[in-house]
Amino acid sequence: MGFKLLERSEPAKWDGKELKSQTIFEGRSPLEPPLGHLPDTMDYSAPNLGEDELSEAVAQGEHFEGLHPKWMFYLARICNHCTLPACVAACPRQAVYKRDEDGIVLIDQERCRGYQECVKACPYKKAFYNLVSRTSEKCIGCYPRVEQGDVALCVEACIGKIRMHGFLSTQTAPREDNPLDYIIKIRKLALPLYPQFGTSPNVYYIPPIHVPNTFLKQMFGPGLEEAKALYHKVKDDKQLLGALLLFGASDRIIEKFKVEGEEAIGWDIDGKEVARVPFTEPHYVHDNYDEKYGVYRHNTT
Ligand code: SF4
Ligand code: SF4
Repeated sequence: MGFKLLERSEPAKWDGKELKSQTIFEGRSPLEPPLGHLPDTMDYSAPNLGEDELSEAVAQGEHFEGLHPKWMFYLARICNHCTLPACVAACPRQAVYKRDEDGIVLIDQERCRGYQECVKACPYKKAFYNLVSRTSEKCIGCYPRVEQGDVALCVEACIGKIRMHGFLSTQTAPREDNPLDYIIKIRKLALPLYPQFGTSPNVYYIPPIHVPNTFLKQMFGPGLEEAKALYHKVKDDKQLLGALLLFGASDRIIEKFKVEGEEAIGWDIDGKEVARVPFTEPHYVHDNYDEKYGVYRHNTT
């Protein structure tokens, strides 16, 4: 992704919660697009290029005990539908725009002439040039689904249930009963990726807890230590755990949630209950012989 950009810029300097180094918009004249670059052909040659690598090489026969001194993690990425999108700022045709109603950032395929300024400017490298249509394209935030109150397809399809999709309230009025407000704005468990770029990305990550803070702080900015500490204690934090249990629990956007007894419950925009997840998965033990179907069950392990 934006490694070349990171190499070109100084490490981000945080003074408390404030960024003291420059974003991709600063130090540029008003007529210049944001700081950026076009990826090389090689960068597109394989999915997850360079992402399967460990932090250090493992020697032949080496084994780990207890905490691993070497580490790696995957980082699922899509367009961040940024609040201050670099792709919008860079397009000389005003073909890239952010929708007022839901904040989704789109490229108007009629207006786009394929100048690739958005490809260059996006620090997350989430706009791509299509050689066939000769226009730039990007994630459309599944806007036809969002308009119906449904989550994006990548969120619904994720078998790991690592994603939650919905709307954040305004900065000043986060709601305790909105699961995303609660996780991101109130408890601050999830953090934006590379906030130092200055685009105010709208995808938030719960940072991996096994990776050194010096590395993660450059990725997720201030609030990292607090988020990791919170995650370490999440099993005793019923409200937060309840919000996390609702990840991947419905194909509807969960507008409101509540923890009741041993269950987390979610409602959609129409006030309809769309998810009810128990804190402990029920455990069933079946008889070896099933009278209803007249069959024997075998334990294949
Ligand atoms: S991630 Fe990139 S393509 Fe998506 S809105 Fe932000 S700047 Fe634009
Ligand atoms: S499934 Fe929808 S939201 Fe997800 S990456 Fe594709 S277009 Fe974007």
